Amino acid sequence: MEDLLKILVVDDDSVDRLAVSRALGKAAVKMEMTEATSAKDAIALLSNHVFDCIFLDYLLPDRDGLELIRDLHRREIEAPIIVLTGQGDEQIAVEMMKAGASDYLSKNRISPEILAKTVQSAIRVRRAEREAKQANRLLKESNELLRHTNQELERQRNQIELQNLQLQEAYRLKSEFLATMSHELRTPMNAILGFAQILLRQYQDPLTSQQTNIVQRILNNAQNLLQMINEVLDFSKLESGEMTLSVSEFDLVKSIRLTVEELRFLAQQKGLRLKTDLQLSNPLVVSDSNFLRRIVINLVSNAIKFTNNGEIAVRVREITPDRLAIAVLDTGIGIASQDLETIFEEFRQVDRSLTRHYQGTGLGLAITNSLVKMLGGTITVESRLGQGSTFTVELPRRTGGLVSLKSSTASLQQLR
Ligand code: ADP
Repeated sequence: MEDLLKILVVDDDSVDRLAVSRALGKAAVKMEMTEATSAKDAIALLSNHVFDCIFLDYLLPDRDGLELIRDLHRREIEAPIIVLTGQGDEQIAVEMMKAGASDYLSKNRISPEILAKTVQSAIRVRRAEREAKQANRLLKESNELLRHTNQELERQRNQIELQNLQLQEAYRLKSEFLATMSHELRTPMNAILGFAQILLRQYQDPLTSQQTNIVQRILNNAQNLLQMINEVLDFSKLESGEMTLSVSEFDLVKSIRLTVEELRFLAQQKGLRLKTDLQLSNPLVVSDSNFLRRIVINLVSNAIKFTNNGEIAVRVREITPDRLAIAVLDTGIGIASQDLETIFEEFRQVDRSLTRHYQGTGLGLAITNSLVKMLGGTITVESRLGQGSTFTVELPRRTGGLVSLKSSTASLQQLR
């Protein structure tokens, strides 16, 4: 507080004004005093000048101090007011402080030190009040801003929710379309397969070798297409939660052997050996035989597809009496380590170029993964580029123990 402080003394008593003036003159703080002898004078001065502090006598000729304080308050004059009181006027001082005065000072205690101290502390308090007011205003403003931001966020959230619903609907329609289309495509594809097989089996009127070759190609392509259509159908069923578990007791060794036999022809066509090594002391499992068939078909047909020479082996073992492992090993092209994590995601293929060598939808492993999870199992892969891959499925012997999946449907989303 090194600046010159501007003080207004409002008092009709010249002796009192003189006392204040003297004390101010002697105080260690530099102060300049202006005098007003009535409330009217004071208001006129305060309307045109800024003061750092006001000394106010309670009894003025035209108004009492209380009214003046209220008036100054209405006029938003912010300078701190120190009430000058006479002997025994404490009650009045208290009333004036309630009305907005900062402090009071007994006229008979006026001294340079007390005056300077009172002025300084009144100014300090008023500043702190002003800062608090300002902080409050800022707080209110930022609250208001927050409220607005919140409203905006809420609006955006509602919009996102709506878009989400629209997306879900579009997703549902897409899955429905996929399911219907793949279902519709399967019927003619099965007819093509059936007729091609009949043509190949004609003993009485055999085909020429060129014709046989052509029909064989029709058969191969139709089988490839059917496999892809089946994958799309499985995928859409899994997505819409329509893939239902149907658990029963069956012989796993027999079931795997039959499934592998269905694929032997494909392996032979590529000159690959297809071996089975199915060692179970108890071949009976309680699981979904259709799911298991699809899992084995997907893994073995991938092994055949991605192997150009060597062999494919299907191994079954008991890890514990309650847990089994089905492994499909190949001596194929292998998978680079950076691709191992993503191949189980739908539509992921290591080679995604249009000129890629191997056909496929990129859905087989995603479906396999979901089916394995529905059976309560896990699937892992180990592979070396150029040397081959091993896909291992671990399953509980009894899937029925899984209450949550027992008679339920589980969508891909839930299984992820
Ligand atoms: P698709 O076989 O239709 O391309 P999958 O989901 O079955 O789709 O497989 C995803 C990708 O994983 C394949 O495109 C291939 O790059 C890789 N992959 C799967 N199985 C094998 C395998 N046995 N050997 C090498 N790569 C494989």
